[in-house]
Amino acid sequence: GAEVVAWDSDAAKRDALSPSPLRGEGRGEGLSEAVSPVTAPLPTLSPEGRGLLSFADPESIDLTGFDGLIVSPGVPLNRHPVAAKARAAGVPILGDIELFAQARATLPAHKVVGITGTNGKSTTTALIHHILQTAGVPSLMGGNIGLPILAQEPLPEGGVYVLELSSYQIDLTYTLDCDVAVLLNITPDHLDRYDGFAGYAASKFRLFHMQSHDHVGVMRRDDPIASVPSMEWKNGPGSWHLPAIGWGTNLQGKWPSLQGPHNAENAAAAYAACFELGLKTDFILAAMETFTGLPHRMERVATHAGVTFVNDSKATNPESTAPALAAFDRIHWIVGGKAKGADLDACRPHFGHVARAYTIGEAGPVFAALLRDTMPVEEAGTLAAAVASAAAQAQPGDTVLLSPACASFDQFRDFEQRGDVFRAAVEALR
Ligand code: ADP
Repeated sequence: GAEVVAWDSDAAKRDALSPSPLRGEGRGEGLSEAVSPVTAPLPTLSPEGRGLLSFADPESIDLTGFDGLIVSPGVPLNRHPVAAKARAAGVPILGDIELFAQARATLPAHKVVGITGTNGKSTTTALIHHILQTAGVPSLMGGNIGLPILAQEPLPEGGVYVLELSSYQIDLTYTLDCDVAVLLNITPDHLDRYDGFAGYAASKFRLFHMQSHDHVGVMRRDDPIASVPSMEWKNGPGSWHLPAIGWGTNLQGKWPSLQGPHNAENAAAAYAACFELGLKTDFILAAMETFTGLPHRMERVATHAGVTFVNDSKATNPESTAPALAAFDRIHWIVGGKAKGADLDACRPHFGHVARAYTIGEAGPVFAALLRDTMPVEEAGTLAAAVASAAAQAQPGDTVLLSPACASFDQFRDFEQRGDVFRAAVEALR
């Protein structure tokens, strides 16, 4: 069965202080310099604050006397001038999740589940929230999904805050002690903001380092990152086996909105988290049945003439497209956009499932050249042209899949708009 592990976060913390492969490369230290600006005790922020200050030129701001700087996770701490200024002035840089963490003492008794990873965060967050809601536990989702956590009404006693946390948000957080912290996976992404892969990974591990000793961490036992010796979670206190599925299981047909092998990973992590929160196995499995999924993630948009159209616009890197390709048999694959890297290597094992590729956007010509040897390729250019052509060529039983392995910014505002354009193009086929 699928397996996830828990470990003693004290051990992880101890190890974080001793030399380890992650830190041995010098990257860990580089990271803490870049993103860990706390040199003095954290400020306790007064509700009144100090008023708003607006500045056009970050170079000219004088931060002397400031208690802290609250920034949006979009600010690249490794190269934004205001971050350098704050570090020089010894002023801590915080984000909204840290403000939430500091406010927790004032909230009715509650628990926090934090979910991070390169891919699957939103799905797993929404799934945990759904299971809790189905169980009648007051819960809300926040962080990197939906409304900002500070914009939502606090939960009544016994509530669970389910927080999706990007690594940028974790970088701005210092005292969030999650009752259950979930790390789904780590693959190269966002490397422009970190000192390489180890720096990015170290950033995500901070979620565990913030936990107190009796709290629980969840990740895949067989994730290569779990074998980093500094992280002794393999010796942790327990493990869970998600009944009935194994890693790599294609969930097609079992839980309707959790299809594809990647969702076995998400489901197992959600299972472990909910089990730790005290829910019963049968109950958790039943709630997975009624999960409706999130738009733009393996979302079945329509079936026309026996052809299924799937919107996976959220797949913005090859690692997240790979499981989508694994999930179907004869795929008309719409791929391209603003590429994060020059290759599609992570998708390569599943090329055999692709009947034909339709390239779009900036990466279109490069991807077309890359794929041409292994499959029929059409340089469609635009998403609308790709949908029209794929619909014309697909046979009954085939799947037309938008899973672009790229960011959307070359042709769209964001991945949501890209998915909406796909849906509209599919609807126009009627
Ligand atoms: P995130 O919030 O981390 O971006 P999502 O749940 O929104 O993750 O899923 C984004 C895309 O990543 C999905 O379209 C899917 O193709 C892929 N994906 C989801 N879960 C996983 C996983 N566990 N491993 C790899 N890819 C995944």
